[in-house]
Amino acid sequence: MNWDVAVIGLGAMGSAISYYLTQQGARVVGLDRFAPPHNLGSSHGQTRVIREAYFEHPAYVPLLQTAYRNWEKLEAESGDSLLLQTGGLMLGKPDSTLIQGSRESAERYSIAHEILSQQEVMSRYPAFSLPADMIGLNEQRAGLLYPEKCIASYLDLARRAGAEILTNQPLLNWQREGSGFVLQTSESSLRCEKVVIASGAWTGSILPELALPLQVTRQVLYWFETPKPNPFAIGQFPIFLLEYGPDEFLYGFPDQGEGFKIAQHLPGRPQDPDQLSQSVEPAEIEQMTEFLARFFPALGSKYPAKLSKTAVCMYTNTPDGHFLIDRHPEYESLWLVSPCSGHGFKFASALGDVLASAVLADRPAPELDFFRLARLRV
Ligand SMILES: Cc1cc2nc3c(=O)[nH]c(=O)nc-3n(C[C@H](O)[C@H](O)[C@H](O)COP(=O)(O)OP(=O)(O)OC[C@H]3O[C@@H](n4cnc5c(N)ncnc54)[C@H](O)[C@@H]3O)c2cc1C
Repeated sequence: MNWDVAVIGLGAMGSAISYYLTQQGARVVGLDRFAPPHNLGSSHGQTRVIREAYFEHPAYVPLLQTAYRNWEKLEAESGDSLLLQTGGLMLGKPDSTLIQGSRESAERYSIAHEILSQQEVMSRYPAFSLPADMIGLNEQRAGLLYPEKCIASYLDLARRAGAEILTNQPLLNWQREGSGFVLQTSESSLRCEKVVIASGAWTGSILPELALPLQVTRQVLYWFETPKPNPFAIGQFPIFLLEYGPDEFLYGFPDQGEGFKIAQHLPGRPQDPDQLSQSVEPAEIEQMTEFLARFFPALGSKYPAKLSKTAVCMYTNTPDGHFLIDRHPEYESLWLVSPCSGHGFKFASALGDVLASAVLADRPAPELDFFRLARLRV
């Protein structure tokens, strides 16, 4: 069989792209080295933040608006609950990257938000203890996504629309043949006209000729037991980002039944994706309990706070922290989408949609100009 498009990697990006390709009538084969959703890449750990007043750059906001619409569409089609709006608090000094950037995006795109003083944050959300020089930007529409369920829903719908989904079948190598490509997997040889590489942390090794400037890092997630009454409960506690030092962030989620989930958002230690271990060191746990003591006195009665579980995941970072989405410089029908520097999940529903159209029309998507490879080549 000659496929129209082969999608390599079926995590956040690949599952969404596979679905959108099938919606446009393409014959799609998707393959993954594991069986998504799994906990060996970048898309596991129960929850992902979604927010619209994007501190990273206002250029992301139109895509985010598409993403919100498309997540809601996925919920309707799958019948599953995938997105929970909890409100979102951005916390930091008034001149911090987080507060200034979120404010700029919110004002430019008229995104509903309010600015709260340190005292207002602490009286509205008693779980927090903030230094006097911090303020909050509260974004009503922010919330969380359930990543494993999102991926499973996209894959299920893609399969039902005719996509062939091959799991536990890594791509071993690929080559150009005629107007298309031949892909060698661990079990078969596939022919296709176009390829989308959505292989996350493994992208650099699939495209070694591009010498992509990507750094894969190890990122730890922590869940801590919560007290009763629970100020981290859904309805009383929002998703948050907190900039505690220049470009150093904590972020967290309301308790989903397994405790208060918190993590650092900054590139962790370099990680070989084939050697990812789920074990977490005592010194890492101690560092996180120190953050808890500093910003979350509600856990103080149990201090040292009781850890209920951890997980380890990977970021694929570009040098400027923005995404890398482009065509292969030599082969225009080979697309690359994945290195999302630790903030890509929320965009998967929009990127899948936009890219499916671009791939099938053989033309670049103007919405994605900001993410092209050339900017990293200077
Ligand atoms: C701890 C953590 C927290 C995060 N928090 C947020 C957040 O709150 N909000 C947010 O928006 N984003 C967040 N992100 C980022 C977001 O989760 C990622 O950008 C996104 O999930 C990456 O999706 P992906 O499809 O690129 O990678 P993945 O979902 O990892 O998918 C890549 C797939 O490719 C497969 N693959 C690799 N090599 C091959 C091969 N040779 N053949 C076949 N298949 C292959 C892998 O098995 C994998 O399934 C977070 C990331 C981490 C790690």
